[in-house]
Amino acid sequence: MAIRRIIELGDPLLRCKSREVTAVDQAIETLNDLKDTLHEFQRTHGFGRGIAAIQIGVPDRVIYIEIAGETYELINPEIERQSEEQFEMWDDCFSFPNLMVRLNRSERVWLRYQDRTGAERRLEAEWAFAELLQHEADHLDGVLSVDRAIDLKDSLMTRGEYLRTLGKNPLSTF
Ligand SMILES: [Zn+2]
Repeated sequence: MAIRRIIELGDPLLRCKSREVTAVDQAIETLNDLKDTLHEFQRTHGFGRGIAAIQIGVPDRVIYIEIAGETYELINPEIERQSEEQFEMWDDCFSFPNLMVRLNRSERVWLRYQDRTGAERRLEAEWAFAELLQHEADHLDGVLSVDRAIDLKDSLMTRGEYLRTLGKNPLSTF
């Protein structure tokens, strides 16, 4: 287990399409490192709920999430369905933590994945969890929140400006 460096916007690795995990035991070390790295990020930044393996430079389809007191270890996750109903929000990302991006996400998603034993599982999520899953699933395909900005003129803001003008921590909203 180790705290790994989180790669940042501009690193071409963030744009690569991560590969399927064929043997889940190969994902265990990555999951452990993601957990340590997420905890370190939370400790140093005061927020953070999910991280994709590519963000520590590992191009495998693996995601680690902690939300609402629950932990999720997602291997080969795939969004099977997402609601047409969307909501608008300001998103952020470990790989550019000081940039907020206004975008639309589906209110609800249905996801299939494997756990660390290789068992097939499914989950249904809405709102905060749903948008987080969409954000992390995008990472596996090299897609970043900036690609989904509603526009370039009014949908990008620094975190400092966001906190000043909207007066709240974005992650406490959901
Ligand atoms: Zn991200």
